[in-house]
Amino acid sequence: MITSMTPANSLPFRTFAPWLRETFGRPMYRVALDAGSTCPNRDGTRGFGGCVYCDVEGSGTGALRTGEEIARQLEVGLKRIARRDDDCGCIAYLQSYSNTYVAASRLDEVLAPIEIAIDEGKVGIVSVATRPDTLPEWSLERLSRLAERVPVWVELGLESANDKVLEDIKRYHTAAEFTEGVRRCHEAGLKTVGHAILGLPGDGREGARKSAELLADAGCEGIKVHNLMVLKKTVLANWWREGKVEVLEPDTYVQWLADFVERLLPNQVLHRITGDAPIEERLAPHWDLYKNEIRERLAAELNSRGTKQGSLSLAASQ
Ligand code: SF4
Repeated sequence: MITSMTPANSLPFRTFAPWLRETFGRPMYRVALDAGSTCPNRDGTRGFGGCVYCDVEGSGTGALRTGEEIARQLEVGLKRIARRDDDCGCIAYLQSYSNTYVAASRLDEVLAPIEIAIDEGKVGIVSVATRPDTLPEWSLERLSRLAERVPVWVELGLESANDKVLEDIKRYHTAAEFTEGVRRCHEAGLKTVGHAILGLPGDGREGARKSAELLADAGCEGIKVHNLMVLKKTVLANWWREGKVEVLEPDTYVQWLADFVERLLPNQVLHRITGDAPIEERLAPHWDLYKNEIRERLAAELNSRGTKQGSLSLAASQ
């Protein structure tokens, strides 16, 4: 158990909350919004059944939410974060499924209550989760107009830089499609947050390194990374029960995570360094380390190597 925490400015990597405070002048908290979107990897457009680790219930409802319902979710979330800190700002986070996999009028409907909250000074950042192969031009134009008012982040899953691994886990997009998605977002004036999973079947330690290199090369401003988790009601759960999949032990995860962080750009912001699936939805791993514990272990690992974020970045040295 970690009893004292290293101050953020002494950590050998760049963490999210201090960066938000520095950049926006106050704490910023996420309010997760479920717009009831769906996913092209579930309805047959790219694939059926979804990625092998994706829990259909955990990823969203799939039931379309009205504009009023989204406004209500936002209102409840704003009250919740205000109880935490009455001088905080809000990140409106369209989290579930692929939020640009909708009709243009639908994205307008979803964004309308968020734009009212922006007008009222209640929302300072909008974050939109989607797939790298699901970014129609009109959606980038729409988000680009929004980005004239507040920073807009597009969250895109890479998960692995290895196309064979992506195929095996049924992501049904390629690493090149991820890079192209990031490039198009940047061209539209949007920021990007790239996601990676360490420990995917067949990816290995070298895969963790390659994922970081690709995320650095693509120039995502933010990074989310976590260890592979086996959730109930997923295809991965069957593979795990059949002994076809292993999950990482904490020491191994921290070592691979250190490899990963060393290969990022020094200025990429780590939005997340561990998974947070509730224990009751998870079959493996059984270990549960608090975010701060992973943070301290990662700092200790990098310090023992004499390295820090970006030390081995190929993209930074070009
Ligand atoms: S793309 Fe996202 S929402 Fe769709 S199946 Fe994969 S993890 Fe789930």
